[in-house]
Amino acid sequence: MRAMVLETPADVHSGPLHAVERPVPEPGPGEVRVQVEACGVCRTDLHVVEGELEPQRTPLVPGHQVVGRVEALGPGVPGLAPGQRVGVPWLNRTCGRCRFCTTGRENLCLEPRFTGWDVDGGYAEQLVAPAGFVYALPETGRARSWAPLLCAGIIGYRAFVQCRARRGARLGLYGFGGSAHIVIQIALHAGCEVRVYTREAKHRALARKLGASHVGDTRDAPPGELEAAILFAPVGEIVPVALEALDRGGTLAIAGIHLSEVPPLDYQRHLFQERTVRSVTANTREDGHALLRLAREIPIVTQTHPYPLEEAGRALIDLKEGRFDGAAVLEIGSRPEDS
Ligand SMILES: [Zn+2]
Ligand SMILES: [Zn+2]
Repeated sequence: MRAMVLETPADVHSGPLHAVERPVPEPGPGEVRVQVEACGVCRTDLHVVEGELEPQRTPLVPGHQVVGRVEALGPGVPGLAPGQRVGVPWLNRTCGRCRFCTTGRENLCLEPRFTGWDVDGGYAEQLVAPAGFVYALPETGRARSWAPLLCAGIIGYRAFVQCRARRGARLGLYGFGGSAHIVIQIALHAGCEVRVYTREAKHRALARKLGASHVGDTRDAPPGELEAAILFAPVGEIVPVALEALDRGGTLAIAGIHLSEVPPLDYQRHLFQERTVRSVTANTREDGHALLRLAREIPIVTQTHPYPLEEAGRALIDLKEGRFDGAAVLEIGSRPEDS
């Protein structure tokens, strides 16, 4: 099979991903092999490829927003059939035994595995994944339209829940990439008023098109303006800015896995009056099922930009440089009827 492989993390402009031929992986007990049709390109992939998140193994195939078809079943896989459309997400498996797994908080598992970080992911024609952690997907819609939902969507959904925005609340979104363009649809569906703060002109245009009531720069929100906020940009300097923009009792959720240094916070300006800041760490499978239910109900429409597998590096460069709105997706083996 063809795969894009990372040997040594480096600036994405230096071309750290290489196209290789590899043996097709065999599913072990409880695993399925998936023939990949599309794999979303996430900012986390960029962090792994550039080494801000150290790869847990090398060589590594990145990619954790996989849409494909079940191709082979390992021993002991109930409930999935060959040919079925599935999604393989970031949360590859959890231990099922630790104090977090046994109390409904598997996102905080002490021994988790993540797709495209600990194990090979979807920048390839095939991958294997634990059957208990893949999602059955509807047959409707193109493979590439579903791909961004599998991380940008699921993590964004969890961030939206964590920021505790009520119906009618003024919600601020800081940064407007793949995840935020999904979250705005969830937030509007939930009756929030959404304000978007971002620099890129393309991102601002998409935010307006999707229904933001205000679109501006990161320092635009006056103190006390927002009842809830989500930080998507991996920029620690925005944390005090967003906290100051929160009303009393408001919550700032930080959606990213990596954040640059956060400046010192001033208790009175940034935290007093029961303002809360909280991180968002991975997701539970229930988050995934809830997001996919919402995606069908709203319905969520993703804005995608296709790249061939061999141009994964260019997709990551374009992501880093903010060259597209919405989300980049590698189209790998889409069936003609899917496109
Ligand atoms: Zn666990
Ligand atoms: Zn991701």
